Amino acid sequence: MRRASGNMKISNGLMIDGTGKPPIPDACLLIQDGLITYAGPAQEAPHCEGDWPEIDAAGGTILPGLVEAHYHPTYFNVAALEDLDTKYPVEYVTLLAAYNMKLALECGYTAARSGGSLFNIDVWMKKAINKDLIPGPRFVAAGREICGVGGLMDWNPDFRKIGMEGLVILINGPDEARAAVRTLVKDGCEWIKTYPTGDAAAPDTNDHHTLCMTFEEMHAVVQTAHNHGLKVTGHCRANEGIKNALRAGYDAIEHGTFMDQEALDLLLSRDVPCVPALYFEQASIIHGPEFGMPQAVIDAHQETLDAGAESARMILEAGGTLGMGGDYGFAWNPHGDYAKELSFFVNFVGFSPVDTIKCATLNGAKIMGMQDEIGSLEPGKLADVLVVEGNVVENISILEDRANLLVVLQGGHLKAGRLNGGPARSAEYC
Ligand SMILES: [Zn+2]
Repeated sequence: MRRASGNMKISNGLMIDGTGKPPIPDACLLIQDGLITYAGPAQEAPHCEGDWPEIDAAGGTILPGLVEAHYHPTYFNVAALEDLDTKYPVEYVTLLAAYNMKLALECGYTAARSGGSLFNIDVWMKKAINKDLIPGPRFVAAGREICGVGGLMDWNPDFRKIGMEGLVILINGPDEARAAVRTLVKDGCEWIKTYPTGDAAAPDTNDHHTLCMTFEEMHAVVQTAHNHGLKVTGHCRANEGIKNALRAGYDAIEHGTFMDQEALDLLLSRDVPCVPALYFEQASIIHGPEFGMPQAVIDAHQETLDAGAESARMILEAGGTLGMGGDYGFAWNPHGDYAKELSFFVNFVGFSPVDTIKCATLNGAKIMGMQDEIGSLEPGKLADVLVVEGNVVENISILEDRANLLVVLQGGHLKAGRLNGGPARSAEYC
């Protein structure tokens, strides 16, 4: 991705730098050739010689670009899970994913990590973004998702005979687990997404206390992936599944819902990041009835939400690493709503706005392995920056409406926001 050339100054705003430090009033950000050279109080800023085009933050908030740490650009706001496999061909899903990538950038998400992809779209989407062919977040790509036969993601009965070449690679045993990872290595993926456990969505045979892979399968995934320099994560609800993942050497935990002290200790011992994705649960509870969700499923989402919020608080208090990602791409939790996750953490889970922003910026960058390049407003880092109308510390929900974004910079380039002509109208594509 190209960096801007020349100088830029952003001033007259409250700065949240992404590191968790207290916000800086009347701050100033200096950018040269797409890199941050100063971030701090305006009074202490170095004197700027020569031409310094200035952006007036107009009393709003200056913060790092957000990182969506559990992103599924290829999920196209589905109401029925099997639609992911059967509704559209790869050609159209690719176009929808490109649309979602642009939307994420317009929403202030300058970076994202894939939580799993239909076909092998995310890998190629990343290439197109990096070459500036299409707009989108800096991206770390996962591929098709690995799950045990009969597990959560094996939702198509065999009589459909459709195969499963879209979303999931189904495995039986460590040998097939290794084979699946090798396929994904060849595909060019950076992260392997697995399904150690079930979910509230599947109450009959794969609920949130069910295991969907064996420890041996998970260990085989990790050994093979690490051998090739790839990282491994997994959808982990059940306590035993979380522990299996941590003992198998997973590099991240998605959800981390039902954690006991032992699971927390395992998580902290290697500082494994966790991405709770809690607003998804709230959205399922609120909007589930509109989509015909059975009461048992909604009740299970409530149990998941309560336990997930408790686990997130435990991890924060213990000094662990949490990322903000929302599993967007379902009918009741559609693309574009990304920042609702942040508001939810402040208003319902009880995180401070500054902690929440740190999770959504520097921690996200850390999960992506890019903490030296992005994630905070510090000298030497890429100028991935948001300027937002209003005070985000007082009201984090300002971030939910992309019309409030004045500026979205990537590497110092103005990519979105009102100064760039404002957001495009949202499309209905399903
Ligand atoms: Zn997901």
